Amino acid sequence: MDKKSITDIYGVLGYPAQHSLSPLMHNAAFRVLNINAEYKTFEIKPEDLDHFLERMDPDIQGLNVTIPYKERILKFVTLDAESSHLKQLGAVNTIVRKDDVWKGFNTDIYGFSKHLQEVFDPHGKRCALLGAGGAARAVCFSLAQCGAKEVAIFDVDTSRTEGLLQMMKGLFPYFSVSSAGSVKDLNIKDKDILINATPVGMKESDPCLVHEAWLRKDLFVYDLIYNPAETKLLTLAKKSGARTTNGQGMLLYQGVLSFELFTGQPAPLDVMRQALSQGVNNL
Ligand code: NAP
Repeated sequence: MDKKSITDIYGVLGYPAQHSLSPLMHNAAFRVLNINAEYKTFEIKPEDLDHFLERMDPDIQGLNVTIPYKERILKFVTLDAESSHLKQLGAVNTIVRKDDVWKGFNTDIYGFSKHLQEVFDPHGKRCALLGAGGAARAVCFSLAQCGAKEVAIFDVDTSRTEGLLQMMKGLFPYFSVSSAGSVKDLNIKDKDILINATPVGMKESDPCLVHEAWLRKDLFVYDLIYNPAETKLLTLAKKSGARTTNGQGMLLYQGVLSFELFTGQPAPLDVMRQALSQGVNNL
């Protein structure tokens, strides 16, 4: 094996990955704590992923894993008892080298739970979820863990919704989850919180997936998208008097937990928050 240099390398692995704000957050944290480490971007094409993983640079100590590799990375990691649920969850977004073995984690669950509970009390609440992809899986897991009452899910890809329902039944047999045949069938008027975990809203030309008339002031609207900071959904929700948040808080807290898993040190929260805000403002 190659000799390891002094600087530990961390990074974000994805395709695309250049737009990621994680390097800003982590490098700011390394600097303030005087940790000799650097956080880089690894934009690796799908056909090159196996080669990249098999010949991983020995200086790389940990990676955040983003679209489209959160599922594919599973076969590369060792899951211990604490993280065995990730196999069913089907998504790992952080890997850490420990004694030459790669351990897998999902810090999106913590990121969403931690931020959600700062802005909304999910306990006993009725939830509507748009999307059943990787992020929605973390959201659903988190809602069940936080004691939400029920979740109704809509995704254009019904096989994804089915997969998410199966996962939830396996992990939380007594938790109430259901699939909706359309956005209308989510019955948003009867829900306490609406969560968008689809990418719809990222593009200027994207529509708002819900009717303005379904939004109201005692609804909470959580859009996982953080770029743009205010999607059409959030604009309309605010107009209706609903309380809202975007995905910046989730991004921050998933980064905080990843940093702690990488370094074993408490993360400098304010420094990471400030670096992220600056990054978002410069987008
Ligand atoms: P994903 O795995 O691609 O899942 C998105 C799902 O939404 C797909 O199943 C997609 O179906 C579905 N969808 C697309 N258009 C839809 C529509 N009109 N109605 C209902 N469902 C629709 O993506 P992801 O990784 O879960 O990410 C989803 C979003 O969350 C992205 O915007 C991402 O940036 C954001 N995110 C934010 C954070 C954060 O920290 N804030 C973390 C993770 C993800 P098709 O595949 O058939 O289009």
